[in-house]
Amino acid sequence: MKIDKIDVAIIGAGFAGLSAGIHAAQAGVKAVVFESEDKLNGDCCAGGLPDFGLARMGFSADSDFVVNKVNRIELVLSNSVVALDLKHISGLIIDKTMLTVRLASLCEKADVPVLLGSKVTGYNHESGLITVEDELGENNFQADVIIDASGCDTKMARDAGLVKRLDKKDVCLCAQYLIKQPSIDKNIMKMWCSQELAPAGYIWSFPTGKGQSRVGMGVCDHKTNPKKIIEDFIADEFPDAELLKYVGATIPLAPPMENIVFDKVMLVGDRANQVFALTGAGNMLAYDCGAIAGKVAGRYLNDKLPNLLQYEKECKKRFYRKLLNSYNIKEKIRLGGNDAVEDLYRKVRPLFLLHRLFPRWVERSAWKHARYS
Ligand SMILES: Cc1cc2nc3c(=O)[nH]c(=O)nc-3n(C[C@H](O)[C@H](O)[C@H](O)COP(=O)(O)OP(=O)(O)OC[C@H]3O[C@@H](n4cnc5c(N)ncnc54)[C@H](O)[C@@H]3O)c2cc1C
Repeated sequence: MKIDKIDVAIIGAGFAGLSAGIHAAQAGVKAVVFESEDKLNGDCCAGGLPDFGLARMGFSADSDFVVNKVNRIELVLSNSVVALDLKHISGLIIDKTMLTVRLASLCEKADVPVLLGSKVTGYNHESGLITVEDELGENNFQADVIIDASGCDTKMARDAGLVKRLDKKDVCLCAQYLIKQPSIDKNIMKMWCSQELAPAGYIWSFPTGKGQSRVGMGVCDHKTNPKKIIEDFIADEFPDAELLKYVGATIPLAPPMENIVFDKVMLVGDRANQVFALTGAGNMLAYDCGAIAGKVAGRYLNDKLPNLLQYEKECKKRFYRKLLNSYNIKEKIRLGGNDAVEDLYRKVRPLFLLHRLFPRWVERSAWKHARYS
């Protein structure tokens, strides 16, 4: 049997996999992205992205896939509403499917094919053998490097014995509707943090403009059915809303992994728990970690590195502590409920007060902190 050779096999055409493809090509190596779905899709996301994130991807905040910019954030706590009016920065809401398609076309331009309808069914981390199923049947490839960017708690790395299944309490079940209600204020991004509403999680409304908003929730309490709760919530909070589209998915709200390199395999993005567990934000981390993985693959294949461990080292240096802090706060809230949310708010309250006096300084400092590099 003939086995085709590939320099870098990338599993998954999300932000992590596509970023890895773009950066591997820039580093001068041949990569292929395998995507199990027949279409590129970013619908399963609220679409929040910081402007510095877009800049790092090489796009401006005025790109056509930026569908809205919000300048007020409201947090609904159990007994109060806290508002933050942004004066010098905006929260961006994107059409993630459009941006995913854009990243895929950057891959194609760099000679990195993105093969849709190609599902990886397994791999061997020592030999680099990888099996892919498409409409024509099963194919085996021999890869020098495998980048597994296949999303939350997927089974290939588990089947290969590299990682264990995530603990249930660390998997967030999400349900989100795109709704239409003309009275929705397009400038306000709102989060309901009451733990009676969303146990070990929160409800969000990210307006996309034109009277529409993505209203969703994530819960880590597996006794709760998030779809039912979000439907009831929308009926109460947005009584005239038309439900346009439903999506359901999971996010890993787990501690950062100690090991993300196993011989020829690097785990990236949601597959490596590279998500801020307190908020569930993972878009930018997926892109940034994909970039590191792609560059490291290039340097390794060009004999500038003895192995792939540089990827793990760099991620640890840049993200590990922040991811762990975020996870610890999420755990406090999961165990402590509303009291823990109020306690957290008490700790950050001075910043809200300071913001009234020095908005530019506070916003710049917060953004600098969020940039994590
Ligand atoms: C409802 C919801 C709302 C969210 N909102 C936000 C937000 O507003 N801001 C933010 O920063 N983050 C948000 N996130 C988190 C963010 O979407 C993820 O962290 C991010 O998409 C992770 O990117 P990824 O490339 O690692 O994984 P994914 O985006 O999950 O991509 C993985 C890809 O791999 C493919 N795949 C899976 N198995 C295989 C296989 N066997 N073979 C080939 N391909 C395979 C999948 O089809 C998929 O295309 C949200 C998540 C959810 C669920």
